Amino acid sequence: MKNSLPVLISLLLFSCQEMPKEVKEAAPSIQKQVMANPVPNIAIDSTITLAYIMGRFDPVKHPDFVLVKPPYSDGNSRYLHKDTWASFKKMYEAAKKDGITLTIRSATRNFEAQKGIWEAKWTGERKVQGGENLAKSTPIPKERALKILRWSSMPGSSRHHWGTDIDINDFENSYFEKGQGLKEYNWLVANAPAFGFCQPYTPKGPGGRPDGYNEEKWHWSYIPLAKPLSDQAKLRLKNEEITGFKGAETAVSIDIKNKFVLGINEDCL
Ligand SMILES: [Zn+2]
Repeated sequence: MKNSLPVLISLLLFSCQEMPKEVKEAAPSIQKQVMANPVPNIAIDSTITLAYIMGRFDPVKHPDFVLVKPPYSDGNSRYLHKDTWASFKKMYEAAKKDGITLTIRSATRNFEAQKGIWEAKWTGERKVQGGENLAKSTPIPKERALKILRWSSMPGSSRHHWGTDIDINDFENSYFEKGQGLKEYNWLVANAPAFGFCQPYTPKGPGGRPDGYNEEKWHWSYIPLAKPLSDQAKLRLKNEEITGFKGAETAVSIDIKNKFVLGINEDCL
């Protein structure tokens, strides 16, 4: 993760066969990664680990994370990266002046937390939209995974791993389409970008995103931190390495990386 004095190995990548000078001087493991994944215009940032991108850390113990308490959150131990938190707090105060209350309902969820959500839906312990028990209704693994993926990420592939993404006020689009919810949403659309926040899950379909999760009017992402993380995910995350939970074998055929991790509003990329 970036800190105030990043030890950044900036490797410019070229789609040529020869190893660039910057790559030759890097550690062998990074050389191997760079040459195996030639993505133009994205540099390996050695301060960001793949473990971090995949949520394999404990935000409670991570030095860059802070606990977000009420009134900023609903009080259920919400953690954010300190930079996301600093900007959210400014946005919260600005919204308050306009009569808008922004309450964080979900924030960082690491691999284990996401695994809990995913497997509860996978096993039918937790019903999905419409009260459906997927273990009973959907025996084919890929179909079951795709139903969960309408609203929930596979562990290892969620933006909520990063400390950059928050869910605000409600988990239904309909809430944000009338009354106070609509006022809140309109305020966010008009003002959140000035604080670095972007809505990654905009409407899907013709004229919108072709892939990824359904629209989520409540989910906002702090782009100054999230963009470098999605760049690193683009460069280094592999579907084959998304493992360690029920149904993980479907990650490759679904192409979680390109369809879901990168299948976001282009304004947030
Ligand atoms: Zn969310």
